[in-house]
Amino acid sequence: MPKRILAYRRLDEQQLDQLRERYQVDYFGKLSSADDPAFREALGEAHGLIGAGLKITPELLDAAPQLETISSISVGVDSYPVAELSRRGILLSHTPDVLTETTADTGFALIMASARRVVELAEYVKRGEWQESIGAEQFGTDVHGKTLGMIGFGRIGQAIARRGALGFGMRVLYAKASPKPELEQALGARHCELDELLRESDFVCAIVPLNAETRHLIGAPEFARMKSSAIFINLARGEVVDETAMIDALECGEIRGAGLDVFAQEPLPADSPLPRMANVVALPHIGSATHETRTAMAQRAVDNLLLALDGERPLSPFNPEAWPERLG
Ligand code: NAP
Repeated sequence: MPKRILAYRRLDEQQLDQLRERYQVDYFGKLSSADDPAFREALGEAHGLIGAGLKITPELLDAAPQLETISSISVGVDSYPVAELSRRGILLSHTPDVLTETTADTGFALIMASARRVVELAEYVKRGEWQESIGAEQFGTDVHGKTLGMIGFGRIGQAIARRGALGFGMRVLYAKASPKPELEQALGARHCELDELLRESDFVCAIVPLNAETRHLIGAPEFARMKSSAIFINLARGEVVDETAMIDALECGEIRGAGLDVFAQEPLPADSPLPRMANVVALPHIGSATHETRTAMAQRAVDNLLLALDGERPLSPFNPEAWPERLG
């Protein structure tokens, strides 16, 4: 019997056709919930799963007895029970690299927008309130020449640091990552303890994966150590931060502001104070959201899936230990 693919969200017709050339494909372009009965039925017959933005639970895996591989259209894999997948022999692949520069652009957009109060002041103009030259109460703070503290210094963290160091003459500190001597040389970056980074940075940028070790990595004690002039940027995942502690720190002036692409609950709940705070720039999780990059991510995921269904090594496997004989 030919293998079947269950696809959900983010694939274009060309990519779907590429899958359909070789496999039977069930596609749920606007899947709203994994409880959709038709989705559940397709899951029961799927050998390969491809998509994004769906929490995959052990209970869902129980409903997918034939599943061999999952191809995530994302670099972050916090929606997947990775150890459980490996235990069941299900190979997970993801899409690093193709989104690195675009996500770093978003990070820098948040740094610039927060420091120069771009969103707040653009709204002021839109409301027709610009009647005379602005005064000091609407001034921002410089980005160039300041200290950029990177919490996480992987692919995206390094790309943000490169923009900061080479484009804006920033001094770069990094913590929660192994030392990278070659980047210390190229960017003048310095590895340090988190404590020192928090005390010295003008911009503190979180870009680590979300896992048991990084959940609530930044909470009340960390905000208390930051400069009162510091701007906090979260481009990682909402749960890397204790959001209640962050809101307290923003409200009481413990830090100057925040630029946020990710939140504990997405979309943001209506009662969240964050979108209404003047010192917060809140974006709807757009890190990789450009036409070019989303297409490249989906294509990488399609390529990963086709290779895996052939029993070959995908371009970017996340848990090769799931297939020890083939990929070990
Ligand atoms: P990466 O290359 O794997 O870099 C991760 C960095 O975090 C590395 O420096 C790593 O340290 C460090 N790290 C610290 N604690 C860690 C831990 N407990 N487990 C694993 N790594 C830890 O990943 P990336 O491509 O830069 O992406 C990072 C994360 O950004 C993704 O996982 C995703 O959640 C998030 N992201 C968000 C968006 C968005 O739309 N906002 C877009 C893309 C990615 P070492 O250097 O020692 O390995």
